[in-house]
Amino acid sequence: MWMFFTNTTTSAYYMVKSNDKKSLSSYEIVFGGMNLLDKLLDEFSREYGADFFGVADISSAKDFIRDQGGDEIAEYPRAISIGIILVDSIIDQLPMRFERSVAVNYRHHTYNIINLRLDLIASRIGSILQKNGHKSLPIPASERYDNECICAVFSHKLAANMAGLGWIGKSCLLITPEAGPRVRWTTILTHAPLKPTGKPIENNCGECTDCVDTCPVSAFSGEPFRVNENREVRYDAKKCEKYFEIMEDAGKIPVCGLCIYNCSKGIK
Ligand code: SF4
Ligand code: SF4
Repeated sequence: MWMFFTNTTTSAYYMVKSNDKKSLSSYEIVFGGMNLLDKLLDEFSREYGADFFGVADISSAKDFIRDQGGDEIAEYPRAISIGIILVDSIIDQLPMRFERSVAVNYRHHTYNIINLRLDLIASRIGSILQKNGHKSLPIPASERYDNECICAVFSHKLAANMAGLGWIGKSCLLITPEAGPRVRWTTILTHAPLKPTGKPIENNCGECTDCVDTCPVSAFSGEPFRVNENREVRYDAKKCEKYFEIMEDAGKIPVCGLCIYNCSKGIK
C-alpha cells in the first residue's frame, strides 16, 4: 500500500509504502519530487483497480477542448487518463442483450459500477494533487453535457489517445492493444507538471470493418480517424441514440454495445 505526504517547509514529496496497513511504524519512507509524484499516482491508481494509467500533454488540443467544454476545461495543460478493462464474460453476452438479465447485468457492471470505481479513483487523485498545490479537475466517467452534439464536457478518449494508450478506431472508440475497446475511461485535468507517458499511437484498424458491419443502424461511415476532422465524418451519434429510444419505447432495457463486442482487437 502506498501513501503520500508533503513536507510543507521544503515542498518535498514523501512516498511511503507499507505491507501492514495498521502500523505506521512499518512504513518505508522515500523522498522525492515530481518524478515520484508521477510514479505515486500510477501506483495509487493501480492499487485501486485501474488497468491503464497515462499522462497526456493536451496543450496542442486546447482549441478543440475549448470548443467542446469551454475556457474552464481548456485551461489545463495535462490530463491523467485512467482506464478499467470490462469483464469479458459480460461483454460476450451482448448478442443476447434482449434478455432482461443480460441487459441488467451489462448496464449495472459496465456502466454503474465501473463508472463509480473510476470516479472514486479520479476523486482521490484530485485530492492528492490539490493537497500538493496542483489545481486539478476530475471529469465524471460518464456524463453527457451537450444533448445536441451528444458528447461530454471533455473527451476521455482524447486524453487516453494523447497519453499513448490506444488509437481512435473506425467505431470512434478508443482501441487499446491490450483489450481493444473493452475499457472504460476517466480523466483528471491538472496543472501539475507531470511527465507525458506517450504520444498518440498508430491507427491499427487496417482493412477491418467489423464495427461498421455489425452496427444495426449503420451509424459508422467506415472512415478512419483523422485529426482535425469532425466526428460526424465517421459517426452519426443520433442514429445510435434513436436506436436506444426505439428499444426503450418497445419496453426493452436499451442496450447495444455490438461495436464493442465485435471489435477484433478486443475478442480473446
Ligand atoms: S452501440 Fe450499437 S447502435 Fe450504437 S454505434 Fe455501437 S453498434 Fe451502433
Ligand atoms: S472493429 Fe475493426 S475497424 Fe472497428 S475499431 Fe475495431 S479494429 Fe477498428
